[in-house]
Amino acid sequence: MPKVLRQLEMDPDVELLQGLLSANGYFEVNVPQKGLFEAMTHQATVLFQSQHLDQSGAPLDADGIVGGKTWWALENPGNNLVDPSDDPSDDVQRDDSLPVEWLVKGDDFPIVGRRFEREEFVEYVKWVQENEDYSWNPTGITMHHTGVPNLSQRPDGYTEQHMKNFRHHYRDTMGWGHGPHIFTDDHAIWVLNPLSIRGIHAVSYNRSRYGIEMLGNFNTNDDYSSKRGKLSRENGMFAAAVLMKHAGISTGKLNFHRHCPIAKEKGKKCPGTLVAFNEFEGEVLSLVESV
Ligand SMILES: [Zn+2]
Repeated sequence: MPKVLRQLEMDPDVELLQGLLSANGYFEVNVPQKGLFEAMTHQATVLFQSQHLDQSGAPLDADGIVGGKTWWALENPGNNLVDPSDDPSDDVQRDDSLPVEWLVKGDDFPIVGRRFEREEFVEYVKWVQENEDYSWNPTGITMHHTGVPNLSQRPDGYTEQHMKNFRHHYRDTMGWGHGPHIFTDDHAIWVLNPLSIRGIHAVSYNRSRYGIEMLGNFNTNDDYSSKRGKLSRENGMFAAAVLMKHAGISTGKLNFHRHCPIAKEKGKKCPGTLVAFNEFEGEVLSLVESV
């Protein structure tokens, strides 16, 4: 067993810890400094502990100290997730019919956190248009890929727990008040940030554009050329077409994160070097009539 680790320790085992946390999806966008047990790693450790059980099925102590039980849970994450219904913050009654209840309500980083099949997404967007009060005036759409996690880190796509993890990441690690609106995986379309509220996803576009994050790292052929990668992109294209058809976004108002001047400056290739804009936009536009 690797040794017991505490915050602010320099140790080669910290890299092992960070690698395991990352493989479990705990550093979704920003990567901590390798080998240093700093705040980001501490927070991810505490969150992981709060969501996992030990060998005997008892919840881990969420104290940020990585001992034998936590190492075990990190190496055996599949079957020991704390049942999300045990989460005291999860007090929303679920109902599959419209109107959709948000998973987390209120002013403190509200999220919808719900999965929609394509047809459900169409109905949802129409419903939001008619029933929710928009506190912003979106006029465009910006496409992203997640990069991390990539497709192999989400072998079955997303769950509601992943939506909560995104919220935790953006709120507590990034210090943001909101996140991207939509996430797609190879199965469906997820709404994170309520569509009626401005999100955060690209500095130059937050004020005016919906953000859509497609699961995958499309800088790599592993993801770009795979069947799952294609499905994730197709769900992203579908979501964009639905926003054009049913949420009043004009067809010329699609762009990529890498078109943002600040992203350009930073050398960002989002949504992936292998994704060609003209081809992507063409496919979205060809969908608009049919959605
Ligand atoms: Zn991006």
